[in-house]
Amino acid sequence: MSAPSPGCWAIDLACSRSGVAAPLDTPQFLSPAGAPWLVRYALDPARGRELRARLGSRPWSLWRYRELLPVADFAARVDLGEGGTPLVEWREEARGVSLLLKVEAGNPTGSFKDRGLSLAVNRARELGAPGVELASAGNAALALAAYAAAAGLRCRVALPADTPATVGERCAAYGAEVITSPGTLVDARLRLAQEPRGDWDLSTLREPYRVEGKKTMGLELVEQLGWRYPEWIVYPTGGGTGIVGMHKAFGELERLGLVSGERPRFVAVQMEGCAPIVRAFDAGLSEAPAWESPETRVWGLRVPKALGDFLILNALRQTSGLALAVSEEEVAEVQALAARRRGLLIGPEGAAALAATLRLVERGVIGPGERVVVFQTGHPANYR
Ligand SMILES: *Cc1c(COP(=O)(O)O)cnc(C)c1O
Repeated sequence: MSAPSPGCWAIDLACSRSGVAAPLDTPQFLSPAGAPWLVRYALDPARGRELRARLGSRPWSLWRYRELLPVADFAARVDLGEGGTPLVEWREEARGVSLLLKVEAGNPTGSFKDRGLSLAVNRARELGAPGVELASAGNAALALAAYAAAAGLRCRVALPADTPATVGERCAAYGAEVITSPGTLVDARLRLAQEPRGDWDLSTLREPYRVEGKKTMGLELVEQLGWRYPEWIVYPTGGGTGIVGMHKAFGELERLGLVSGERPRFVAVQMEGCAPIVRAFDAGLSEAPAWESPETRVWGLRVPKALGDFLILNALRQTSGLALAVSEEEVAEVQALAARRRGLLIGPEGAAALAATLRLVERGVIGPGERVVVFQTGHPANYR
């Protein structure tokens, strides 16, 4: 019942640190090495041709890549229409470059967190979870609450007390129990641990399936570009599941023979008030020590310590990528520019990514003719 469906090409789980394997049909959280598990697939170019031939008749949601998504019962899945988001052009005529914004705000709860939590909640239900929970800066809580409601699972979310009130109200509207806690995400997680009830923790990278949902961003953008890589991907980085997931997706597409050539250079963007990945990247470290007192109003990026730090840093270095921090003022300026000049209301995390991109264009690091995909990860109304 809980093994992947026959149409899916998944074979097992592998520890991202030691490579040790585990079966797909049992619940797994962190590996014995304390690292995230990643799903492995059996892939070859013949399967790539098969997949490509089938895509033409499939709707534009993340489920079009079902062979690469390990659910047991595809027909019975919870599906709120996640994924299938557009690339919207942003021209910088003066600089001769054209950026592509991957606009994730149209997802069911207004952010790309829906992709990961769709897969994680579907798998939690299939594997027999009594309920689900996580601590979140906002958007993950909204996504979890919505998918848990649709899956008929009990749901509890813990939010830092200064999270905008609308987040907790919307989670409650989905029927979730909402706990608030002083301090950061780390303190909010402790609150859940203080009152354990045996529900599954679906926090970033603590279970293997959120990455699988997030990787569909990489599958989509390569397909949308005509099975070619862009030169750059600029990503507002908190827990980093998107970078880890897209890097994984590119490996899978290469083994399927669906894309080739240089992988895109990843740019991880963080806030000056909470930039553990940028600091570790600049210092040449392979892991990122926790940021002491995170201070930023860009909630999705207020992540002082990422469990997958070594995977993010690895993806940046393997792709000759970069890591950059931007200021609160730059974010506000770019949000105003996008709204007034381009008719786009963008969220603060996406604005951080765009601000970093414009800086790289200004400095000539990104040049004319290069394709750049800039992630716009969530709708600003989620924080109002
Ligand atoms: C969670 C979140 C991020 C950070 O995403 P990661 O994949 O965890 O790095 C960025 N933007 C928004 C809107 C988010 O909700």
